[in-house]
Amino acid sequence: MNRIDCYCPICKHKTHHEIIGEGKNHSPNDDYYYLETYRVVKCCGCDNVSFDMEILDESNVEYNEQGYEELVAVHKSFPITENSIEPLRSWEMPTLIAKAYRESVEALNNGSLLLASIGFRATIEALCIEKGFNTGNLITKINKLRDKGIITAIDCKRLHEARFMGNESAHQIQEPDREHVLIVLEIVNNILNNLYVIEKKFNEVIEYRFKDYEEFQKMIETGVSECKKGTEGTVYYFLPDGRKYRKEDLDKYEAEMQTRISDGRFTCLSILPKKENSKYRQGYKVE
Ligand SMILES: [Zn+2]
Repeated sequence: MNRIDCYCPICKHKTHHEIIGEGKNHSPNDDYYYLETYRVVKCCGCDNVSFDMEILDESNVEYNEQGYEELVAVHKSFPITENSIEPLRSWEMPTLIAKAYRESVEALNNGSLLLASIGFRATIEALCIEKGFNTGNLITKINKLRDKGIITAIDCKRLHEARFMGNESAHQIQEPDREHVLIVLEIVNNILNNLYVIEKKFNEVIEYRFKDYEEFQKMIETGVSECKKGTEGTVYYFLPDGRKYRKEDLDKYEAEMQTRISDGRFTCLSILPKKENSKYRQGYKVE
């Protein structure tokens, strides 16, 4: 079995890989030597299949112990290259933000620093829009994020710095240095992580406590208002998604809601007939 050592994106380090197939491009003549080898490879540790490109080029040499020139093999892996930056769980973010963010990280990983910095500025812009701040320039919008307590004063100060970098890139077409873009990435990551990723995990783990019955009913009403007449579902269907509820609270408030439906004080839902001894939760229909 033919093997090489190259980067595995799953094991996240260099591992032995079995070569499944390969093809080569040679330099066309003797004036200048290069050799590119394209390989489909399979990690011997985790079985992940990826792609490795090995480049030998006469301009890239090192001297061995005997003082002779030796070509240095440079490897590039695909689709994930070594030392590439892993983005946050962008599927937890609103679509507009996620798109700008993902594309910016991708640009950064491809070495397109100018596009990455413009992209992070667009990500911040998308965050402002998502939070409902559509008017004014970006300075005003970022300040609104701080004033509404969505981001901290420190985040705000840093965002302004990031914004200016985006400005320089966009308006003067000036490529920023990588270190600078990496810091911007950290600021943006910090904010998005706080606002979306941790928030989502928190909601999944920590049980939501209703303040009182009124709050429960209000949330049900909001859920119902987004449904068509005739929609059927249990209370879970009408309550906000991706949240954990305390079963005892839910049982207590649902019983109260049923009383109110029966005596006509709550009219946007009706109670569906329930099969005897059914282990499923009570169903309702939107009226
Ligand atoms: Zn592996």
